[in-house]
Amino acid sequence: MSRYDLLIKNGTLVLPYVGEVRADLATRDGTIAAIGTDLLASEAEEVLDAAGRLVFPGAVDAHYHLGIYRPLAVDAAEETRSSLVGGATTVLSYFRTGQHYLNRTGPYAEILPEVLAAVSGHAWTDFGFHLAPMDTRQVGEVASLVDEHGIASFKYYMFYKGFNLSADSRDAKAFTMSDEYDLGHLYQIMEAVAAAGRDSGRRVSLSLHCEQAELMRLFIDRVRAAGDPQTLKAYSDARPPLTERVAIGEATTLAGATGCPVNLLHLSSAEALAAASAARSGLDLRTEVTLHHLCLNYEELSGLGAKVNPPIRSAADTEALWAGVLSGAVDWVASDHACCLEEHKGDELWPALPGFGGTGLLYPVLVSEGMHRRGLAPHRVAELVSANPARAYGLWPRKGSLLVGHDADITVVDPDLEQEVTTELLLSGQDHCPFAGRKVRGWPVATILRGRVAYRDGAVVGSPRGEFVKR
Ligand SMILES: [Zn+2]
Repeated sequence: MSRYDLLIKNGTLVLPYVGEVRADLATRDGTIAAIGTDLLASEAEEVLDAAGRLVFPGAVDAHYHLGIYRPLAVDAAEETRSSLVGGATTVLSYFRTGQHYLNRTGPYAEILPEVLAAVSGHAWTDFGFHLAPMDTRQVGEVASLVDEHGIASFKYYMFYKGFNLSADSRDAKAFTMSDEYDLGHLYQIMEAVAAAGRDSGRRVSLSLHCEQAELMRLFIDRVRAAGDPQTLKAYSDARPPLTERVAIGEATTLAGATGCPVNLLHLSSAEALAAASAARSGLDLRTEVTLHHLCLNYEELSGLGAKVNPPIRSAADTEALWAGVLSGAVDWVASDHACCLEEHKGDELWPALPGFGGTGLLYPVLVSEGMHRRGLAPHRVAELVSANPARAYGLWPRKGSLLVGHDADITVVDPDLEQEVTTELLLSGQDHCPFAGRKVRGWPVATILRGRVAYRDGAVVGSPRGEFVKR
């Protein structure tokens, strides 16, 4: 019997918060067993030559939507497959009751086991869930969800008090299937989340979608009155950065009053990032940006395939977000992956469903646009897509780095492999791709989940082995 299951030889290990080290890495029984400069190939069952490659910790795609528009099992099978292409080995998916998803409400004590059962056996990556308490009864479940179900993060959507997801209806109660989904409800969630954190001694946090509903109402009316153009620019004008800034102000004020750790999701604009940075002092506040807000702008895109909340912004906004990534103002980058088919987009702005996929580009975009183009060090890339979200969401030290004893979740990247993004390349169920046509340099050539190769050279290997990760 061999000493190691898998040996990755001759590569450069990328260690978050440390740097890059020329060393070999060996796994055994799903965890990292040894790191050294001359581990012997004869002692391993399988050897992977990583000469000229960067060996990263598997990414933690911290913002994801399994099962929002399609059955959970289908999304789990087809979308986590795409995650392997982008080098992610864990996805943390948002789930809520109300319209879309399971299209009903009820206690999470009943619904969460149903969700886990639907995903189990289909996911190619490990997975966890952030849950959104939509009604008062679900707020009462926060403590038991933390203690008994391994859920360490929750969510509140600032704009659902006035709109549905597409912003084509103001019947928010029908959409959320809840009672009062307002700042009072948010305050109650924050109290419950802060208390659960104190009681458990861990970071239990609330993630926030920051767009302000009353201002959206005004700006949407103005866009519609001014001829109602069916463009992404119009969508951005209808939910402008000011709505993000005001929502961030409301959310962080309540976070300060309740002592609740918060994660400000998908900051899309220079204004939003500046507001988040200004609010940091005295709070446990983390910031997220998405691949699409870093890479896409409404000046270049045509069609509505990239309708998303918050909207795609200007090219100047994308550069401001990159500056935040480089400076450390941004804590992590995620995909906000939501498989949304072309038939649900159409040519009409308001009914088009928001969201699209991007998980298959997580490491490729950070390596290509961050490392090659903007000088981001490899270990900073690893912090942004793996270590920082792992620490924020209770996955550390099991996930998020390449240290002996950690899960052997590993992504081997060829930093010089250049490919044009196509829908097919990403192995997602989504039939269009707003990133298509971009040249990207630096792609995973092997993605390893708990010691076993799950993706290699453009194709998945074996069968789905992803497991629910309690946090
Ligand atoms: Zn999202």
